[in-house]
Amino acid sequence: MQKGAIRVQTENIFPIIKKFLYSDHEIFIRELVSNAVDATQKLKTLVSVGEFKGDLGALEITVKLDKEKKTLTISDRGVGMTAEEVDKYINQVAFSGAEEFLNKYKGQGDGTNIIGHFGLGFYSSFMVSNEVEIITKSHKDAPAVRWECDGSPEYTLEETTKEDRGTDIVMHINEESEEFLDEHRIQTILEKFCKFLPVPVKFGDKQINNTNPAWTKKPSELTAEDYQGFYKELYPFSEPPLFWIHLNVDYPFSLTGILYFPKINKSYEIQKDKIGLYSNQVFVTDEVKEIVPEFLMLLHGVIDSPDIPLNVSRSYLQGDPNVKKISAYITKKVGDKLDEIFRNDRAGFEEKWESIGLFAKYGMMTDDKFQEKGNKFLIMHDVDASKYYTLEEYKQETAALQTNKDGNIIILYATNPIQQDSYIQAAKNKGYKIVKMDTLVDAAFINTMESKWEKVSFTRVDADIVDNLIDQNEPSDSVLTQDQEAKLKELFGHLPQLHVKVELKGLSAEAQPVIVTRPELMRRMKDMAAAGGSGMSWYASMPDEINMTVNANHPIYLQILNEGDEGRQQKKVRNLADLALLSQNLLTGADLTAFVNRSVELMEGEKNN
Ligand code: ADP
Ligand code: MG
Repeated sequence: MQKGAIRVQTENIFPIIKKFLYSDHEIFIRELVSNAVDATQKLKTLVSVGEFKGDLGALEITVKLDKEKKTLTISDRGVGMTAEEVDKYINQVAFSGAEEFLNKYKGQGDGTNIIGHFGLGFYSSFMVSNEVEIITKSHKDAPAVRWECDGSPEYTLEETTKEDRGTDIVMHINEESEEFLDEHRIQTILEKFCKFLPVPVKFGDKQINNTNPAWTKKPSELTAEDYQGFYKELYPFSEPPLFWIHLNVDYPFSLTGILYFPKINKSYEIQKDKIGLYSNQVFVTDEVKEIVPEFLMLLHGVIDSPDIPLNVSRSYLQGDPNVKKISAYITKKVGDKLDEIFRNDRAGFEEKWESIGLFAKYGMMTDDKFQEKGNKFLIMHDVDASKYYTLEEYKQETAALQTNKDGNIIILYATNPIQQDSYIQAAKNKGYKIVKMDTLVDAAFINTMESKWEKVSFTRVDADIVDNLIDQNEPSDSVLTQDQEAKLKELFGHLPQLHVKVELKGLSAEAQPVIVTRPELMRRMKDMAAAGGSGMSWYASMPDEINMTVNANHPIYLQILNEGDEGRQQKKVRNLADLALLSQNLLTGADLTAFVNRSVELMEGEKNN
């Protein structure tokens, strides 16, 4: 028997590793199963380079619980270790045998997807154990050995008997960690970290993993059903995905994966953190914020890259050049895919737009490269629901009617087609094209694109300038006499609302008697303030600026002017103004109550007359 002290640089490093190596204690399972996978993969490499010729047996990893002995055992049939190797790889903390192996067999064989490289993983077992045993028999012709350590820097190493080649790691679970003696808990952890490991992992009679997940295969080997099937494996309860992108790069970083675009029916269903980050098929995290650009966080699926530095801090990740390149690569792939679907299957693209649009717009606002691509495939939905325009198509179709004096195309939009219907109808009668901008991101999208798209501005269909878009559309003279006009102006002059500008115009007799509009800019500022834009609260407190256009050609005014009773005239005019405000959701509180009371009063008056 050999006895000795574990050699570490700093005396007190061991307890530190024990306690603080990982904040999540459950990670010890990932580390130990990864080591078992590495040992098995190494053996396969040795076979493929002709260095091992013996009987392989069943190359699988087993996880066993013994509740009575309070042990958790992880066994593999990999390369095993000789006494010298245990001394070298285990007794030297932070010496990685994985790294050493990789360097030796670089470019040889086919089993070189080794997980470890920090040389610390094994010690995570002490986070949950009083004592850890290693019983191991090397693939080389050497006696089996048993190593044991109780978590102090003292270990024992002795010869033992073991029939099969490979390693058993026996953890004597400590009192605080008894949760790891619960079958269900172990099952859950194994399913989380080991679901796609390349070597079979068995717990009880059940195999935990799919050793050959779709992302590790070549796209040419996979059918649409394979991709959909894998999606179901990842998210058993989700609707089928809309489309997917198979990622596959070797240089300048290595990355594989499949990203799926989920069906989004309602914006509140958007789920983030649905992308799993893997390293050589070991699950690492589902927090991929730094690696995947934020606007792509709605995607689901798997990214696997051994090149992402996993054990370092998040703030470091953000500055990592590989991480930046990966993020740019994913953005490019997604842009290309959307462009491809748009060009090859426009109808299918339009059908999916409800789901795609939200994130496409968000992407265009936040990523200039993505925006460049998006300019071609972004589509805008006509309020009539049967038609979509790209920016270019909209420009072409509206150039004749919707160009203002600065030569800018005015994109007319509706945020609430039902509420804004009267304006939409009026604009349509003039031949204008109106698009729907009614999703979560549209207000911000409009603001951003106005500064990015040249010679384009947006105007809401009920804005004050819609009528002035085209010069020849000037209103005609009103049918009223000058005296009647003067009287009407006077009646409207009594309106008590602040910041209301009243203008008399001779519009068509079918147009509403009073039309309320708000200056586009002020309305947008207030909308942004209401949505909680930073630095915008000042706008929220501003009184609303409202323009009222009185359509002097509406027949109701002749009727009102013929009314004898001045009081009733005023009330009726006030009601017309209130109705216009009401249609814009601008009549609230005491004004609304007054309107209701006044309406009842006027109706009673009608009865008595
Ligand atoms: P890393 O995996 O990063 O190299 P670990 O602390 O997890 O570091 O493991 C240290 C070394 O111990 C490994 O590189 C390997 O050489 C050896 N080792 C650990 N577990 C096993 C095992 N189950 N079979 C064979 N060797 C192992
Ligand atoms: Mg390891």
